[in-house]
Amino acid sequence: MNHLVWLRNDLRLHDNPALYYACQSGAPVMVIYIFDEKHEAHAKLGGARAWWLESNLKFFQAFLYDKLGITMQFYQGDSSEIIHALIAEGLVSDISWNRSYEPKHISRDQELKSQLLAAGVSVHSYPGNVLIEPFAITTGSGGPYRVFTPFWKNISQLNIEKPLAVPSKTSMKPVKMSQLAESIDCLKLTNSAQNWMQKLEPFWPFGEEEAFSRLNDFLPKARNYNDSRNRPDWDMTSRLSGYLTLGILSVRALWWTINAHQQEIPAQENIYLSELGWRDFAQHLMFHFPHMTTENYKPSFEQFPWQFDQEVLKRWKNGQTGYPIVDAGMRELYQTGFMHNRVRMITASFLTKHLQHDWRHGEQWFWNCLVDADTASNTASWQWVAGSGADAAPYFRIFNPITQGEKFDPDGTYVRKFVPELKHVETKYIHKPWLSSRKPASYPSPIVDHKQARLDALKSYETIKNK
Ligand code: FAD
Repeated sequence: MNHLVWLRNDLRLHDNPALYYACQSGAPVMVIYIFDEKHEAHAKLGGARAWWLESNLKFFQAFLYDKLGITMQFYQGDSSEIIHALIAEGLVSDISWNRSYEPKHISRDQELKSQLLAAGVSVHSYPGNVLIEPFAITTGSGGPYRVFTPFWKNISQLNIEKPLAVPSKTSMKPVKMSQLAESIDCLKLTNSAQNWMQKLEPFWPFGEEEAFSRLNDFLPKARNYNDSRNRPDWDMTSRLSGYLTLGILSVRALWWTINAHQQEIPAQENIYLSELGWRDFAQHLMFHFPHMTTENYKPSFEQFPWQFDQEVLKRWKNGQTGYPIVDAGMRELYQTGFMHNRVRMITASFLTKHLQHDWRHGEQWFWNCLVDADTASNTASWQWVAGSGADAAPYFRIFNPITQGEKFDPDGTYVRKFVPELKHVETKYIHKPWLSSRKPASYPSPIVDHKQARLDALKSYETIKNK
């Protein structure tokens, strides 16, 4: 009988514990992917991530066959029902997966595991997509972390497990196929009418070899990461987030590669590694406070007097707010499926503070457009910016879109790239083009006055400050 490997967010051969140990077991290895829409994430799969997933599934199917001689099978529907059906076909004796900490996955996996064990199937689950599992560390008083600094202090001193090797092909035996398998195209992850996703392809080559090549290109830049990471006009961050989100690149492999390359810097002081720490922190929060994926982490924000104006939201989404750094970010997002971290903070602050719109509107738009859309990182980051999250930036910290632009895109290179109608505006006015006679009429005036919007936001915050 087969050893079933159920892939989820772990589309890779390297450091894939479920696949590695199944291959070592000596049994024929059956690799499956189930598109379980009901349990996919906290919300319906966003467009960019669906495209990224579908493309990488197709890529991985060929890669897996080429490297290990295993044919990956696809299924659609309720995961538990499908796995029970495979067992009923007499195909499975063992099942392995790498753990996920999405609230919907946890309850589904726990229930399934107990049913399978009761049915006599051996179940093996492993840590797969984090540095340290969310339940493996606690504060001194035994509870979950709510503040990043002590969380980071703890995990940066731990021995992160070394990544596992790619399984070897020699151990592979042919697998009995199920009648229930479908072709990947039947899963209909993407809607062919929505072809805007196709334009993302040049920015996001598929597969783990591409991820490693991107990592190698980044290594010389890693030394200056501390000084350069905040500059959207420079290509100085790793742009590995999309690969980490689908588990195309193992975060442990990334940790070890960076550590080996920068041996002189202790992990605790390595800013790049601390960003991976933020990623784990988001998973930790999601595991312990699952409500934060859809509700305010801080209950007082349920009373926040958010505004809502469809037209205003549309201008923010389309990059037509009249603030160049905000508009450049929103257009970068739509055109490339990515936005630089500094600009994510600026655009999110602008929506929640200048425009006083509930962070969930922004979170959903990012969820739809980001290739790296990730339930934990997206909801934790949005709540961090909005002030409603754990260890969040205080609400009164309101990013000034003019000075942020001047500081982090001083020559306006980033703005001119994504807002080309401003390319002739003088550099001294590039972040306040309303002062320039060269601003074309096609570019809007500011949607709100910065100073007034700031005061209005603070006034709204006063209403919940002491709740
Ligand atoms: P690098 O600077 O090279 O960092 C390396 C890796 O560290 C990233 O790939 C990412 O996995 C992790 N990382 C870096 N910063 C953060 C952070 N603040 N929080 C969590 N992980 C981090 N990241 C996502 O992966 N998915 C999201 O859906 C997402 N939504 C965000 C929404 C908002 C409003 C904000 C402010 C940030 C969001 N981030 C999200 C975090 C961060 O912006 C991206 O991870 C980063 O920009 C990806 O670019 P990079 O790979 O070049 O990052």
